[in-house]
Parts: sequence; C-alpha cells; structure tokens
Amino acid sequence: MKKFLLAACLFTVVQANAQVKKPSDAAMNRFVSDLMKKMTLDEKIGQLNLPGAGDIVTGQASNSDIAKKIKDGQVGGLFNIKSIAKIKDVQKVAVEQSRLKIPLLFGMDVIHGYQTAFPIPLAMSCTWDMSLIEQSARIAATEASADGINWTFSPMVDIARDPRWGRIAEGSGEDTYLGSEVAKAMVKGYQGNDLSKENTIMACVKHYAMYGAAEAGRDYNTTDMSRLRMFNEYLPPYKAAVDAGAGSVMASFNEVDGIPATGNRFLMTDVLRKRWGFKGFVVTDYTGINEMIDHGMGNLQAVSALALKAGIQMDMVGEGFLTTLKKSLSEKTVTVQDIDNACRLILEAKYKLGLFEDPYRYCKEERLKKDIYTTEHIKAARHIAGESFVLLKNQDNVLPLRKSGKLALIGPLADSKSNMPGTWSVATDFQLAITVKQGLEEALGSNGTVLYAKGSNLMDDPAYEERATMFDRSLKRDKRSAEEMMTEALNVANQSDIIVAALGEASEMSGESSSRTDLGIPDAQRRLLEALLKTGKPVVLLLFAGRPMTLKWEQEHVPAILNVWFGGSEAGHAIADVLFGDVNPSGKLTTSFPQNVGQVPIYYAHKNTGRPLGEGKWFEKFRSNYLDVSNEPLYPFGYGLSYTKFDYGKMTVSQAKPHGNQTITASVTVSNKGDRDGKEIVQLYIRDVVGSITRPVKELKGFQKIGLKAGETKTVSFTISTEDLRFYNGNLEHTWEPGEFDIMIGPDSKQVQTTRINWTK
Ligand code: BGC
Repeated sequence: MKKFLLAACLFTVVQANAQVKKPSDAAMNRFVSDLMKKMTLDEKIGQLNLPGAGDIVTGQASNSDIAKKIKDGQVGGLFNIKSIAKIKDVQKVAVEQSRLKIPLLFGMDVIHGYQTAFPIPLAMSCTWDMSLIEQSARIAATEASADGINWTFSPMVDIARDPRWGRIAEGSGEDTYLGSEVAKAMVKGYQGNDLSKENTIMACVKHYAMYGAAEAGRDYNTTDMSRLRMFNEYLPPYKAAVDAGAGSVMASFNEVDGIPATGNRFLMTDVLRKRWGFKGFVVTDYTGINEMIDHGMGNLQAVSALALKAGIQMDMVGEGFLTTLKKSLSEKTVTVQDIDNACRLILEAKYKLGLFEDPYRYCKEERLKKDIYTTEHIKAARHIAGESFVLLKNQDNVLPLRKSGKLALIGPLADSKSNMPGTWSVATDFQLAITVKQGLEEALGSNGTVLYAKGSNLMDDPAYEERATMFDRSLKRDKRSAEEMMTEALNVANQSDIIVAALGEASEMSGESSSRTDLGIPDAQRRLLEALLKTGKPVVLLLFAGRPMTLKWEQEHVPAILNVWFGGSEAGHAIADVLFGDVNPSGKLTTSFPQNVGQVPIYYAHKNTGRPLGEGKWFEKFRSNYLDVSNEPLYPFGYGLSYTKFDYGKMTVSQAKPHGNQTITASVTVSNKGDRDGKEIVQLYIRDVVGSITRPVKELKGFQKIGLKAGETKTVSFTISTEDLRFYNGNLEHTWEPGEFDIMIGPDSKQVQTTRINWTK
C-alpha cells in the first residue's frame, strides 16, 4: 500500500512537471488541488511550519532532529542554512523520505548581497539609482540561488523616521516615494520575470507593517498611528513591492491599533488581500506568534488560531501552528478551510519556484564556482559602494586627497575586516572584506605611505563595546590605556601631511535590537578627533554609520566629512576611490540628520501646523519651535555634496493652469561649474496647498540622477500627471483634489525653487 502511494505521488509530480514550464493558474491549481487531496490534516499543518536550521551538519542531515520532522511531513521550509551541501542533504530527506515527497523552501536573510556584500540598504538608497539597486539584488539572487537558497527575507521597506531605531539601517530611509521605488527595484532584482529560473529567488517584503514607527525608536515597541498616516506615508512601499509581484510578505513584531501585526486581520486580510490583491503567502517574523502571548493576546493555542484567522500562512520558528491547530480545529476556533487556504498558498509558492519539477533546481554544484563572488560581482560591489557615500562637508576642497606623501590613518574602524560589510551580512565571509587601510595602501602604492594607529577603542565602556560588536564583529579591544593609544596616534599624526580619521559606529551598533539614545560619535573617539584637530593638520572624518547621527560639533569643527555608512565587501577599495578622487561622490541622504536627539522624529515631509515658523527663522514665541535649537535638521533629506559644483538655472513649468488628466512638464537646467565630471540628483517635490485633509509641506514626486562633464549643462524635465497629486483622503479613497499646487525642484529638500500652479478638475 505504502509503495503504491509513493508511486502515485511520484506520478503526480512528474505529470505536473510538464506544466511548470508554462505556469498557468489553472495548471497550478490543478496540481495543488490534486496534491492536497492526498494530504492528511497533519501534513497540511506541517507545510505551515518554518523551523530554523537546527542541528543540521553536512553529510549528517538525515540524522538530525529536523530530519525526523521532515520525514514526518512536519516542515514546509527551513531558513538560514548555509551551503548547497547541507541544503541538498535536507532536501533529499524531504523528497525521498517523506510520504508525499514535497520539497522544502530554503529561506535566508539575504539582505544586501550574499557572499559579495553590497552597502547596507540605507546606504544603497543614497545612490538614488534604481538600476544599481536592482543590480545588487540580481547579483544577490544569483549568488544565493547558486548556494541552495530559493527565498530571501528582503526587501525591508519599513519607513523609518527615528534614527534611534537601529533597523533604520535595513531600509531606505524616511521617504514614501523613494522607498516605494526601491521596493520595486529590489523585488525585480530578486525575482526577475520568472520565479522558476534557477537564478531567481522569491522575495519577502517586510516587516508588514509600520515596524519603523516603533515608539521611542526602541525595537519591537508599540506602533500607533492614524489610518491616514498609514495609507499616505507608511503603507505605500509594501504595496509597491506587492504590486511588483513579491511572492511573500513577513508580518512585523509590533502591534498596530492594539493588535499585533501577526494577529491583525485588518492588515493581513482587509488591506493586503482585499485591497491590494496579494496572491502570495505571509510568514510571521521569528516567533511572532508566540510573542503574542507576551503582548497579552492569550495562550499559544489562542494566538496561533488568531494568527491563522488573521491571514498568516507560515509560522517562523515558534511551532504554534504545528502544536495547536489540530486542537483548535476540534474546538472549532479554526476551520479546515482556514488550514487548507494557508497550505495551498505555501504549495503554490513551491510550484512557482519550480521545486516540484526539480527540488534541486537551486542546488547546481557547477554554479557554485561560477556564480559566487565573481570578478564582475566584486566590481559591481565596489562601484555601488562608491555611489552610496555621502559627502557631508568639504571645506576648502580638502578632498580629494593627493595620491602621494604621508597619510595618517587613525581610528578603531580603520583596520577591521569584520566591521566593513555592515549589519545583516549572514552569508559573507568577513575575511574577504577590504579594510580602509588595505584600500588606501593599495591606492597609494609606492607613491606614498599610510601611517596607521588605532587611536582609541570604540568606546570607553568595555561592556558597551561588547554589546556593540556582537556576532563575531569584535574590534579586538586594545588593552593599552587611552593615553598610550592617544600618544601613538598623535605621533603618527604629527609625521603626516593629512589625517584620515575612521570613526563612528561599529557595524552592530545598528540593525536588529541595536537601538541607541545618544546618536553621537562615542566619547573615546570624539576625544581622539578633538586631539587630531589640535595638531593643525587637515583632518578628514571618514564616518561609519548605520543611521543618521548627531554631528553638530563635527560639522562646526572638522573640515571634511565623508559618510561611508557600511559599504560591503569592497568598501575599503571604494573608500580609496572616493578619497583620492577617482570617483566623485554623488550620494544624497535619504534620511534627515538631526541636530540633536531631541528633534527626533524629524523628516522633511512634515505637516505645516497652524503656527508654522517663518522660513529661515528660529525662535518666535507661540510658534511651533524649540527654545534651544532651530527646527532645521543638520543635513536635510536629499542633501549631499560633490567635488564639483552644480548650478541650477531658473525652473520653468509648462502650464500654470492645467486641467483634468493632462500632463505638465517642470524643467530646470543644471550646469557643472567645476573642473571635474560629476553626477547630480535633481529632485522634484510637490505641495498640495489646500486639501480636504492637511497635506505635507512637500513630498518627493520624482528624481533624476544625471552625469555632467566639467562645464556641461543639461536640461532636466519631469512630467507631472494627476497620479502625482493623489493621496488617501478622509474616506481612504486614493484621489486628487483640484486647486493650487507648489511645484518645487532642487538639489535637496531644502534648497528648492517653487512655482505655484492651479490644477482644475
Ligand atoms: C528579523 C527578520 C528576519 C528574521 C529571520 C528576525 O529577528 O526581525 O528581519 O528576517 O529574524 O532571520
């Protein structure tokens, strides 16, 4: 009997194979329905289970605890197992030893590259270059799929306006429009146009929803906001990723409207499925179901039923579904239909990935050598990193540096491989990363000398330093006293022509569970910087940061500041490219940098209030402002300098009184007035002057990154349609309202030219 069943199943799988080539909904439905008819209730619940990698060791997978569950049909997929060898072993257990031979999904946090690490997502967004962002995801997918992975927990599209939140590093910053563009580019890069190809992987949009609005910037904390803000500001990037075809969505840890996202039917069903028409599956975040017990939603059985009913299909790690759904079914708090629906969506994902046709599709050993960490990928990583750096200050053209003489490279972040790739680089071999020291030495060659000193530890407090350098990112705390380290650094500095101070955050000071309340450069490093400035030599602050930092003092005192974020495996080379001027920096900020933490949250697309402060003013009694600091950010959204200078001509708008669904054009000439070629990111903002609800003072609606040779002038034109005027009104209808609009163009969100138009319906 058993033999017969196996043969029957094999037959079904083979039969379906012929149909996978040209996947159609009907063929998929038939295949999945046939398969589900053979499944027991336990096997269906098993598909909803996503345990972590557990105790799997290469060559011994079939002896692991996980293998036993797989054989028993209790596992739908696994995540964060690295290596084709292990993955093949485990897949073999699923397709040879489980009753129905259903292949497993293999997920991983492939966030900004695989072995070839790209800059952290926040940095990547500062390129404002969607083709580069897509390329990075394409390369990540190529590498991950060559090592067995068929599903990535990316893109992270949470809008974040509170830099205390460490996970701001994992997203694209504060802006809804830019964030949506990045979301689309990432999904396209991962999934291509055919999910069943061996070099594409399924995307998972996260963390749905509003995770970035955690109160006080403390991770996992409560989120509470109006529907209007959700729909207009926070939800669009998730929707953009869903519209781009993302195969899966991850629920966030936070609550929304008093119900944790994992159990939130409004989010998972009303918005995601009904409003947006999402057809893929939703996975919880790590133990998201179990955490609803601490949220105060009931015991494991209750919260598991709540999650399933809300519209969750897969349970990451916590095994609430696996251990309680049967009981809930018998008690009628869930239905067979609920379980079937969830199981169907998981099987469909496997079908779309082509796993029923070939469960080893992503395990082609010949691709291992050919497709991972290739010369071409490394070159792309170096290029993209260079494009992501943001030049914050460059007084008297201290930068670029001459490729000669003696350069003092000082700081605890100057010579650490593990610190380069940035948070969430689980598949990267840190040893392959290029440090700043390596990059500068290579670039200088025999034309000059790099004199290095660590100068200080990351911070004075060793316990804090340990917390800030977890996951093998130790900066090898120096046992010498602060004075000894300083003396050595000053010796080195005094022998040099120029000082490059590599300071800021260590890579694990941002990312998950890495919230901070003080966003300055840690004290030990700040003292070092002050001492270096006192030598009188020119100082370049090479800033490592996973978030906007408070740099008021540095902006006042340090002649040049280059923010390099965490640039990935090739960061050291890219830093040298930019410092020596082989690459002209062109990145622009996608988050406002506050003057101090008290201004947080600070973002350019704020509302006007009834008592706005006049432009350029600081304090006025009974206006919306502070006694002790102006309302301005230190560096606004969209800001970034170049080694050349761009001049903007007078902007023109094709029509002052457009009507109905016509389009208009806003144009400006941009000239490169310097003697170097460069790139400029020209930005379009719109303000809806009068609305049925209050509207932001400006919203980004377009941007173009253009290359300009020295002396060259180009005209940049934006086409504006009524699509750009739409917003969610008080009834949550996506509509536009006639009236006055300010059209603004500029090099950043602050320095804009404005033309007012009147658009009638
Ligand atoms: C994170 C997710 C991640 C998951 C799996 C969680 O802690 O919040 O972003 O995808 O772990 O590693």
